[in-house]
Amino acid sequence: MLSSFLFCRALRYPQSDKPLMSQCDSCKRKLHLLDKIPLLSYIVLRGRCRNCHTKINSLHFIAELLGLLIGLVFTLFPHTIKAHLYVSILFTLFFTDWLHQLIPDRFHFFLILLNIHAINKMTLFIMLLVSLVLLIFVKKGYFGMGDVKLMVSSTLHLSITHVNCLVLIASSMTLVLMMITKKAQFPFGSSWAVSLILLNHLI
Ligand SMILES: [Zn+2]
Repeated sequence: MLSSFLFCRALRYPQSDKPLMSQCDSCKRKLHLLDKIPLLSYIVLRGRCRNCHTKINSLHFIAELLGLLIGLVFTLFPHTIKAHLYVSILFTLFFTDWLHQLIPDRFHFFLILLNIHAINKMTLFIMLLVSLVLLIFVKKGYFGMGDVKLMVSSTLHLSITHVNCLVLIASSMTLVLMMITKKAQFPFGSSWAVSLILLNHLI
């Protein structure tokens, strides 16, 4: 349920400040209570709206499935409230960057707020330096300002070794996804968010 809600926030950005109604994006009809059951409703309705039969974005299903998997991991291996918040932010960031190719500043703000008590000064210094180099020397289009900000805001609490692992995982994931989707670009922020979730479970 939470994953579905967070996905809708990502999908409807930048109108995400408006109240979220559970409605069909096409005919705007309010959803039936049964249509709000994650995964099951999508399968029963074969991915279409009950009213206008318009195809529902399959990312809804993927988001709910991912949410279920993350929920299972969190149930099997209990985590702190901070870890729940951290994953929820990264989950929403993953879909926002994927769908809109941008990372709103509020994500950086929340990530900094969560890890401000455990800042690794050496990592912060190196990441600021790396960001500067990327902004000056890397051709525009490959790295957006949001990606650069994310590289700093999301690594404050990590050691340099962990950041190296993160860069390796995120870069490999971006390359593989570019090959699979046959696109010249893939939202780096999305790969980075998944890599951060993986890394935080491994360390
Ligand atoms: Zn509809």
